[in-house]
Amino acid sequence: MDDIVIRGGQIIDGSGGPGYQADVAVSEGRITAMDLGYAGQARRVIDATGQVVAPGFIDIHTHSDFTLPLNPQAESKIRQGVTTEVLGNCGFSVAPALPGRAAMLRDYLAASAPWLTFQDTTFADYLQGFPATSVNTVMQVGHNTLRLMAMGMEDRPPRSEELALMEHLLEEALDAGALGLSSGLFTAPGCYAATEELITLGHVLHRHGAAYASHIRDEANHVFEAVREAIAIGEACGIHVQIAHLKLSGSDNWGGATQLLADIEAARQRGVQVDCDQYPYTTASNPLRNLLPTWVQVGGMEAMLQRLGEPATRVRMREEIAAQGLNNFGRIPSWDAVRIAISPHQPEYAGQTMGDIARRRGLDPLDAVCEYLIVDHGHTRILVTSMDEADVREIIHSPSVLVGSDGTSLAPYGTTSQGKPHPRFYGTFARLLGHYVRELGLLSLPQAIHKMTGGSARALGLVERGLLRQGYHADLTIFDPHTIAERATYDDPHQYAAGVSTVLVNGVVVIDASEHTGTLPGRVLRRTAAGVG
Ligand SMILES: [Zn+2]
Repeated sequence: MDDIVIRGGQIIDGSGGPGYQADVAVSEGRITAMDLGYAGQARRVIDATGQVVAPGFIDIHTHSDFTLPLNPQAESKIRQGVTTEVLGNCGFSVAPALPGRAAMLRDYLAASAPWLTFQDTTFADYLQGFPATSVNTVMQVGHNTLRLMAMGMEDRPPRSEELALMEHLLEEALDAGALGLSSGLFTAPGCYAATEELITLGHVLHRHGAAYASHIRDEANHVFEAVREAIAIGEACGIHVQIAHLKLSGSDNWGGATQLLADIEAARQRGVQVDCDQYPYTTASNPLRNLLPTWVQVGGMEAMLQRLGEPATRVRMREEIAAQGLNNFGRIPSWDAVRIAISPHQPEYAGQTMGDIARRRGLDPLDAVCEYLIVDHGHTRILVTSMDEADVREIIHSPSVLVGSDGTSLAPYGTTSQGKPHPRFYGTFARLLGHYVRELGLLSLPQAIHKMTGGSARALGLVERGLLRQGYHADLTIFDPHTIAERATYDDPHQYAAGVSTVLVNGVVVIDASEHTGTLPGRVLRRTAAGVG
């Protein structure tokens, strides 16, 4: 007797191949049979007639380490069919925190993780103590976190003992089962690191068979060089490179997607292991302070807040922004393209643009930004519309670009329901399948599913996940291809996606008739010599 049989659905197995009819049997967490007209008995039969049965979606780029301890049900993700989240991206991880440095890490991450409590921890203890969640998790250690631990917010190369400490902390995290290292070279303190520093750490990754993921040094005016740097690190160290949320930011750079994709394909052709991920939106999300020139953050938060009050700093920033646009985001039409998402100390401003706020206060927009950051202790998180839809579509259209929300698991209730976060946290996967596949026909359904399942599992080295195969772990998503849709909007982001009826994680039903059962069957997937599982 099987635990569950799913009958009557169309199988799209994650390989990119065409769909077919079959029943799927599940027992003890595994797929035990996939046959048309399966004759076995089961304790539970799920009727999937008219629906697609796919592998559970893998969100390859997330920051849910900031919210899963507060929202272990992973509501905004699991209701889109996500069964595995990769955490610790863009150089940011909440561990390790060396004795006495947890407060510094909390302050550093407050614009991303305002509600999380921080404590001294090794990476191993962090993994050991991670709460039970509804989704599987894969952990990475962040380069910005390591650099903060080793040398604070210093704009200089590390001394040999500081570099040795980073290598040691990386090694500890890898021994504990971290997938690899993520970097965030667009922002302090990662941006103070030269390529050589990353190559040194990349050699540690190579020794462990671990991977490198990068929020590259620049996604705007220097995006081509930044992609080249990520590829060069992978090539120099012989490691897999994941380029995060591929985009061309800033109006001066629009129209470059075809060439950027061609450069990445050329690297693949010469044997570099490189993959990319993307979220399907023209708007990005970041701490407000990261839009300013990176020198503003030298020395840490107090030093930055002090500097933002100085007229000379504002003159210099104004000149640099006029010449080059925003740090990492390039040129935007106006500060109306920047909207407050989460503001821990001034929550009433969520949803307003910096342009609105400046006009209402009768201030120059950059002065308004500086004043805002000072009152909000530097913790403000914003949305910035800086991409071109044609580039976004060109990147979606590439069958090799994987899907990552770059978002956290949220819920429309409790602590994580605050503010107006990016709708991608609730909608990435549903938007791709509803808007870009069904409405626009940019990709076939099997191609799109592959980008969020089998393709991602290959890039990550996941063991027996990402495809529907007999013997594989039973991570499954059942959805209606005619109704799956994003419902979150910029004005009303805390809205679950529509169209997903059933989700199984490790053979346990988490979403049943589109409702959360409350179960927490996710596992922390650790990297070993045999892969990630
Ligand atoms: Zn990022």
